[in-house]
Amino acid sequence: MTASIRTARLPSGIEVPVLGQGTWKMGEDHRRRADEVAALKLGIDLGMTLIDTAEMYASGGAEEVTREAIEGRRDGVFVVSKVLPTNASRAGVMRACEASLKRLGTDRIDLYLLHWRGGTPLAETVGGFETLKQQGKILHWGVSNFDTEDMEELAGVASGNAVQTNQVLYNLSSRGVDFDLLPWSRERGIPVMAYSPVGQGDLTRDRRLLAIAKRHEASAAQIALAWTIRQPGIIAIPKAGSAVHVRDNRAALDIKLSDADLAELDRAFPPPSRRRPLEMI
Ligand code: NDP
Repeated sequence: MTASIRTARLPSGIEVPVLGQGTWKMGEDHRRRADEVAALKLGIDLGMTLIDTAEMYASGGAEEVTREAIEGRRDGVFVVSKVLPTNASRAGVMRACEASLKRLGTDRIDLYLLHWRGGTPLAETVGGFETLKQQGKILHWGVSNFDTEDMEELAGVASGNAVQTNQVLYNLSSRGVDFDLLPWSRERGIPVMAYSPVGQGDLTRDRRLLAIAKRHEASAAQIALAWTIRQPGIIAIPKAGSAVHVRDNRAALDIKLSDADLAELDRAFPPPSRRRPLEMI
């Protein structure tokens, strides 16, 4: 049984949960594999049915962990994977997608992203994505690590407006996108997928977050996640390798940050006052 949680609407009209699950660093160590699969399965049970992976993670190993986690329940999961910029030519995306499908044990990827911009012209990559769509191998495509001017450029490319999301670094410590990329995306109805929403674990130990968490009888991770998804059009994809962390993250949806909490967070992690280049990990 899968519990249902708050959703965000992609431009195509598809609704996806605002809290999904990341998989970076999964599939690297066979001793952790059973826990990783169990964590993803539990997350799906709890409604975090969007799983973000990439051909890059553990050189395909994370896609294989994902395959185990979604086995027997493919239709209830929204699979996001990413192609490396070195594979972003028309022929390259075809080959890379085929390999990802095999590792994922599925016949289609729900959302296929360009991991970051490389040397291939955007028009060529988008052309490849559109062909994959026609073949039914991917249902939608999007981008990752695109700054506002990259998004502008994409909008000018044939079929560029079929983009469904831009996956970027967004958390309390890295909130430069609050200045322009988020408003730009919101105006156009393109949700942003926030990666590293708990700062790769750092925010879960932050004393300023711990103080706010105490008032909510919550964890610092929950405060960081509740902040990330506080506004519509944001999807957070924390990575959790244990059942304890998965349950903890899911409970972030039950937290309502007050105006006083938000003001305190703005003092501790000041919003950008000017445009900054997009940060990337
Ligand atoms: P996260 O901010 O999700 O942090 C993950 C770390 O935080 C792990 O060490 C995890 O530990 C720990 N953690 C998670 N939940 C809790 C909790 N409730 N309490 C305490 N610790 C917790 O960082 P990621 O960089 O992994 O980002 C999330 C996902 O975003 C990635 O997995 C990947 O799918 C995607 N991503 C995309 C990028 C891109 O370029 N497009 C770049 C980076 C990430 P444990 O594993 O032990 O549970």
